[in-house]
Amino acid sequence: MEEAAGEFAEPGNLAGIQHIILVLSGKGGVGKSTISTELALALRHAGKKVGILDVDLCGPSIPRMLRAEGKAVHQCDSGWVPVFVDQEQSISLMSVGFLLERPDEAVVWRGPKKNGTSDEHMAAVDALRPYSPLGALVITTPQAVSVGDVRRELTFCKKTGLRVIGVVENMSGFVCPHCNECTNIFSRGGGEELARHAGVPFLGSVPLDPELTRSLEEGRDFIQEFPQSPAFPVLA
Ligand code: ADP
Repeated sequence: MEEAAGEFAEPGNLAGIQHIILVLSGKGGVGKSTISTELALALRHAGKKVGILDVDLCGPSIPRMLRAEGKAVHQCDSGWVPVFVDQEQSISLMSVGFLLERPDEAVVWRGPKKNGTSDEHMAAVDALRPYSPLGALVITTPQAVSVGDVRRELTFCKKTGLRVIGVVENMSGFVCPHCNECTNIFSRGGGEELARHAGVPFLGSVPLDPELTRSLEEGRDFIQEFPQSPAFPVLA
């Protein structure tokens, strides 16, 4: 579990959030930060206010993807105040990345602060449960499906009574930067099958698009700039 995106009424006031979406997968590198970032941008385009809580404790990358690296969070009486990433103050972000002095600094948490992935999951689910409606967006890649990590994540949701909004298959095929054609390098359709097997909705496939990688590296708005990409329909 890495991020929770929701509509913020007031910064710092979880009770004012209308919807909380947990973006999770059970595996690193499948695109949780990417999908969370694009989801926040898509919601902003739809006129919503969004808060992102990046709980990737060891490799927080959302501050970079949203060009918020180096910004400072500060504390007030009720806790940490998130960073606004845009002038319109539509997207606010809290990330462990803001607590590091340098972006390449390692996060070393021991003992009660970090006991293992499932404890992080449980802690986040327990902390957010009172603020329903709470739902999980489960991200997979075609390869992750085959090794079962995402299946375990769905079992986690079931056991903890967490509603699954749906499954997204990311890095599903490769978009040629020259002709925009999408080629299936790995098998395709695993995410859909996984969703069917678990009895949860399948929300779509996002191909591997070099323009998306570049947009994230440069902190640009992919949805606005590349509507012709085969990755656009699901992300937007
Ligand atoms: P996670 O948060 O699950 O660890 P990330 O969102 O950081 O994964 O994605 C890992 C890497 O893959 C990042 O460099 C990101 O830019 C890239 N990436 C993720 N999804 C796509 C995609 N659909 N197309 C192109 N690059 C992608």
